[in-house]
Amino acid sequence: MGLVVQKYGGSSVADAEGIKRVAKRIVEAKKNGNQVVVVVSAMGDTTDELIDLAGQVSPMPAGREFDMLLTAGERISMALLAMAIKNLGHEAQSFTGSQAGVITDSVHNKARIIDVTPGRIRTALDEGNIAIVAGFQGVSQDKKDITTLGRGGSDTTAVALAAALDAEVCEIYTDVDGVFTADPRVVKKARKIDWISFEDMLELASSGSKVLLHRCVEYARRYNIPIHVRSSFSGLQGTWVSSESTEQGDQKVEQAIISGVAHDTSEAKITVVGVPDKPGEAAAIFRTIANAEINLDMVVQNVSAAATGLTDISFTLPKTEGRKAIDALERNRPGIGFDSLRYDDQIGKISLVGAGMKTNPGVTATFFEALSDAGVNIELISTSEIRISVVTRADDVPEAVRVVHTAFGLDSDSAEAVVYGGTGR
Ligand code: ADP
Ligand code: ASP
Ligand code: MG
Repeated sequence: MGLVVQKYGGSSVADAEGIKRVAKRIVEAKKNGNQVVVVVSAMGDTTDELIDLAGQVSPMPAGREFDMLLTAGERISMALLAMAIKNLGHEAQSFTGSQAGVITDSVHNKARIIDVTPGRIRTALDEGNIAIVAGFQGVSQDKKDITTLGRGGSDTTAVALAAALDAEVCEIYTDVDGVFTADPRVVKKARKIDWISFEDMLELASSGSKVLLHRCVEYARRYNIPIHVRSSFSGLQGTWVSSESTEQGDQKVEQAIISGVAHDTSEAKITVVGVPDKPGEAAAIFRTIANAEINLDMVVQNVSAAATGLTDISFTLPKTEGRKAIDALERNRPGIGFDSLRYDDQIGKISLVGAGMKTNPGVTATFFEALSDAGVNIELISTSEIRISVVTRADDVPEAVRVVHTAFGLDSDSAEAVVYGGTGR
């Protein structure tokens, strides 16, 4: 008998009907002879609504209480799902992250999983139950406080449990038919990918393709857990994410030259203006940011003006960390020494991802030509071996994604990509 882990995102369990539909699917998997562990997200936009609510009572809620609040969302859906399964005549038990043995560090709002001890899940399975686990949450090893794993963290819960339970596959059920060559909400002609390597998926995810969270892909790669991303609204095969390409019928699926185009409008740009151009300045800025436990994305330093010996340093970071970063830099201004700070949250990032970039010299030129033909102005550039990213005005992002998608011949000539549910919030 195999063990499968299935994860259902918020759009799949948005209302009572959704929960009943998903319950049927889970029971089918059990009837097919599998042991089934289900990881579930909060219903619909519940997490966003809880965040809004917290903001109405406090501008800067304490991390511990914020996590306590947000984990309530997943507790609602896990209990309702267990009830719906029992109503179909099958045994199910729900567990919080803590009960399921998801142990994390103590960084509230973006805790990292450091261990999974799924003893209670094993027992529940051995007793013939379907185990339902609340995604996105854990308990901190030292303080025993409840933590959350960051937005979209249920994906990580699912893969971490799959690894700890030695599952055959981790199925991620969502509101689209798989991973596409671009977000189907932006590019109607996006094409479903049959197979993608962990490496390319990792780049897409960390560049903003929120269909999978990058930490979840990182985890899956480390423990070599194949992920199958598919829709909970259709019976279609989705996208396999693994180290080896899968056989599809008698055809071997090959790695594409370009896997896809990702975009991200969740970041902001901070420019530190008037920094003395001498050793140690960048170090002081980035130490300040690191001490505030903020992760940066892109960094650029301008050429200094010869007359003043001053330069500017710009970097991007999640908008949600903007306030914290500005406060930390202002506090350390005497030590660092700079003139002023500029904050810009009207930026967007577009990334082209594909392993084939390494060996196809024309890729960079085609990318920039497509953006230039569309009149898109580029503010920052960063590259890796298999990715090119640019920062533009946020308003330019949809058009930029579409022109790049077309320029690389990724447009599908068959039917439009379907988005079954969700608000895309
Ligand atoms: P869930 O609630 O199931 O976790 P998410 O909203 O987190 O769902 O992720 C699914 C969404 O990811 C899709 O509705 C789609 O808009 C978005 N998305 C972004 N990039 C891609 C991509 N390359 N392929 C598929 N979906 C994508
Ligand atoms: N409910 C959480 C969120 O909306 C976690 C998740 O859905 O994965 O971010
Ligand atoms: Mg998600």
